[in-house]
Amino acid sequence: MKFIDLNPHGGIGANCSFCEVDGFRFAIDSGLHPKFAGRESLPDHSVVERNSLDFIILTHCHLDHLGSLPLLSREHPDAPVLLSYGSSVLSRRMLSNSISVMRRQRSELNLPELPLYGRGDLSSLYPRMKPLSTDEPLAVEKDGRSIEITLHHAGHVAGAVSVTVQASKERIFFTGDILFNDQRTLGGARVPLSEVDVLVTETTRGQASRDPSRLREAEIVSLLEVVRKTLSKGGSVLLPIFALGRMQEMLVILDDAFRRKAIQKVPVFCSGLGMDLVNHFHEISQNSKELRFNRKVLKSVGARPLPRKLIPGRSLPMQGIYLVSSGMMVENTPSYMLATSMLGEARNSILFVGYCDPSTPGGKLLETKPDEPFEFKEVDWVEPVRAKIHQFDLSGHADREELVALAEKLSPKTIILHHGDPDSRDWFSSTLSPLGAKIIDPEPLVTYET
Ligand SMILES: [Zn+2]
Ligand SMILES: [Zn+2]
Repeated sequence: MKFIDLNPHGGIGANCSFCEVDGFRFAIDSGLHPKFAGRESLPDHSVVERNSLDFIILTHCHLDHLGSLPLLSREHPDAPVLLSYGSSVLSRRMLSNSISVMRRQRSELNLPELPLYGRGDLSSLYPRMKPLSTDEPLAVEKDGRSIEITLHHAGHVAGAVSVTVQASKERIFFTGDILFNDQRTLGGARVPLSEVDVLVTETTRGQASRDPSRLREAEIVSLLEVVRKTLSKGGSVLLPIFALGRMQEMLVILDDAFRRKAIQKVPVFCSGLGMDLVNHFHEISQNSKELRFNRKVLKSVGARPLPRKLIPGRSLPMQGIYLVSSGMMVENTPSYMLATSMLGEARNSILFVGYCDPSTPGGKLLETKPDEPFEFKEVDWVEPVRAKIHQFDLSGHADREELVALAEKLSPKTIILHHGDPDSRDWFSSTLSPLGAKIIDPEPLVTYET
């Protein structure tokens, strides 16, 4: 197999991989880098000759995998986009939201190239989408040859898949973003454990082992305990959260806690995209066995939309739980704006439930000590850190030991490291080396042969 990582910044970012196997040329995912905007956030598609891809595979709908798919597909109009049913539903809402965000950024960030694509590109993309059932191979034919593509439930978020590509002489497995544990709404990954020649593995959590006292369900219990204490003091809770997946999961967790009277009933405010996606999750749940979700949860928790305009430092409309994006409290998102109003009061809590890149406001806040000033640069606002700040490990990614165990079972001849920061990849490189496989930690835009 020929492999090129098209994410020009390395690490985790604008995920997009080019592969060539047995004369078949395809790409997996085409995302946007969450830390950049405009052209800088794009993968480098230029190394792939126009209209030369036989197909494109989408693993799931987080924007670091999906956000530039309309551009890649525009350059390869004859290539079908193979994806799960869940992703075919969610991609529409995520991409139309992406256009709205880019339109807003055009003036906010003074980037005249935005939006990078428009509604017309989405209308052209949708008929190219070919939803596949999981675990049912699709044979793709070309010049009298054929390869088989199979999608497998990957557990990471609704619709997420791993991929097996079976060529005449090679079997390749791409983990994609993968989670083996069950979540409240979604079962864990189900992957085939037969041997492969090439394994392309995500390496997100390579930097640290999970503390055995912090298993997923224990983390939920600890989080609810902080929520309970905060509300009982009359404070409010801010949960910066991914709109896709984590927010719907947290709605179900809160609903369950309200029913059990584990926490006092207060209004739950949600950002718009997360609330909209509830309907999409409901639709997927009706038509697939992978997801257990009912839109009634919104009514049951008494979810309300956020006030339209969030003004820095303005007091909250009322005591409540604010379940809002973005998860890393990125500048100008609802979680960033609400934090300006909540950080300065000791009775409030700000609870992170996933990874925060150290360079994002969320990452910086986690590093700031109590009572030190925290600067919200984008809105020219400073508050002392008086609210309680906690981070809980509800990651959507497999623990590093689980991925090593998977590699051992699949006994590949070649392992390609993917979707991880340099330190994480280094840990996987050294830990996997006793397996005797050739390990490739690809430099961006360099061609590797397995
Ligand atoms: Zn993801
Ligand atoms: Zn990802």
